[in-house]
Amino acid sequence: MSHRFRDQSSAQLDEHIERGALLLLPIGTTEEHGPHLPVDTDARIAEACADALASELDGDPPTLVMDAIRYGYSMRVMRRWAGTIVVRARVFMDYVFDICSSVLEMGFEKLAILDCHGHHSGPLSTVSRELCDACDRAVAIISPARLSAERFNEVRRSAPGGAIHGGEWETSLMLHISPEVVDMSRAPAEPMRYHSDFVAGDNFTGTQRVSWSTWYLQPTRSGIYGDPTVASVETGAAIMEAAVESGARFLREFMADD
Ligand SMILES: [Zn+2]
Repeated sequence: MSHRFRDQSSAQLDEHIERGALLLLPIGTTEEHGPHLPVDTDARIAEACADALASELDGDPPTLVMDAIRYGYSMRVMRRWAGTIVVRARVFMDYVFDICSSVLEMGFEKLAILDCHGHHSGPLSTVSRELCDACDRAVAIISPARLSAERFNEVRRSAPGGAIHGGEWETSLMLHISPEVVDMSRAPAEPMRYHSDFVAGDNFTGTQRVSWSTWYLQPTRSGIYGDPTVASVETGAAIMEAAVESGARFLREFMADD
């Protein structure tokens, strides 16, 4: 039986609600990712992780994957390259809120968002709190990057600053899930420099004791921040395995809690 929300009839959705099914909502965006990755990288990763999680959970709990949200908010700096579509942050937040409150009001009680775009973490966190207020349901937000961070740091070849945007993490994962759309012959290397120990490193190694966007401080020549040249399909497989293993463990905990 299909695990896609869109494949169900209303009657089948009622049965899923009755059984207390879990909904997964993958959220990426459409933006340039350098000359070597497609513009749908974030959305593609979000969908692939959601599908892999549904397979791993294997009906325990029953799980449906919603269609991904493929457009969102990116900083203006990314519009220098073709492919970046920007939805204003407040419009994005309202859009996500309405989609989530629709399924919660429909009767689904457990919803987890897969956040696969760095610029969305703040907006999504706020939306999840607003959903609690409005619908009395605690929506979870899981991030494959954070779930796989420990494993990635064990196998990575880039230095800190090598896995921010279009770098080793995303490129490795794309080599694992969609190698046909990755062009390694065009992969540049533009690691992020340290600007301050307070924001040192990258998404995976930085302690990020303050929030300070360094994207404007270090202009990128190629549209990326990181080092995709050291990416590998093995690293991508390790990332996916770690994200799915820890993600599934969390989601079972999330389901057990009412
Ligand atoms: Zn990305």
